[in-house]
Amino acid sequence: MGTLTGKTAVVTGSTSGIGLAYARAFASAGANVVINGMGEPADIERERAKIESDFSVKAVHSPADMLKPAEIAEMIAFGEKTFGSVDVLVNNAGIQFVAPIEDFPIEKWDAIIAINLSSAFHGIRAVIPGMKKRGWGRIINTASAHSLVASPFKSAYVAAKHGIAGLTKTAALELATFKITVNCISPGYVWTPLVEKQIPDTMKARGLTKEQVINDVLLQAQPTKQFVTAEQVAALALYLCGDDASQITGANLSMDGGWTAA
Ligand code: NAD
Repeated sequence: MGTLTGKTAVVTGSTSGIGLAYARAFASAGANVVINGMGEPADIERERAKIESDFSVKAVHSPADMLKPAEIAEMIAFGEKTFGSVDVLVNNAGIQFVAPIEDFPIEKWDAIIAINLSSAFHGIRAVIPGMKKRGWGRIINTASAHSLVASPFKSAYVAAKHGIAGLTKTAALELATFKITVNCISPGYVWTPLVEKQIPDTMKARGLTKEQVINDVLLQAQPTKQFVTAEQVAALALYLCGDDASQITGANLSMDGGWTAA
């Protein structure tokens, strides 16, 4: 029996990167999982099937678009209908865009706020009634070191991540007496497609080479001079789902190689 046997976890943005690591960690602890996100259908199906075969649990994919509140509610309903409950919700989907404020496209601002912040609000709303009814729940939001400190040229991302830290605290207070904990995890840099994709824009915005961006911007931020791994972030999320973590709520847990200690 794993710590999550008989439970169901929904992880938004879990077709790659940190989200996929969360889904695999929860499955390793016995949870059935609803994965979500974009990508090539064959790649999504391969990862879904691999979760089932590696961990002997059920995994299904929800194509819900985190830009659309109705689809987020449908994703939670799909999880409840398929498995009988949604016990763990991880609001993790995220996108990034790097540009000076005066050139920042309005549609990019709107999309980043919607996907990185508002989708968590909609997910939490949808999952609360079932969690309250069952008297147990774990809600985890992927924030970022950028929920605590800023970097130039990432205005929307920094604003959304500061926002999700505030949403986390508020939801934690509202749900504390229902045995539902709400926390966020704030990773430093993790080498995923999200980070890789922002390198050309950072090169342009700061006039640097790729190597300079990696060494003098990304790794420079982290005193350990190492990337965090997606599996390390997922292990912390799994800890938050256990009984030992029942008194951790409203927290913003940093895993950033010392970045925000500086
Ligand atoms: P990633 O690009 O590997 O994964 C992002 C996921 O979000 C993918 O599954 C993608 O399909 C999904 N997604 C994007 N738009 C979506 C939409 N409209 N609807 C549904 N799904 C959508 O990136 P990642 O680095 O694993 O990022 C995951 C989370 O971690 C994000 O919230 C990000 O801000 C946060 N984070 C990442 C880092 C890092 O260094 N990689 C650091 C701190 C926080």
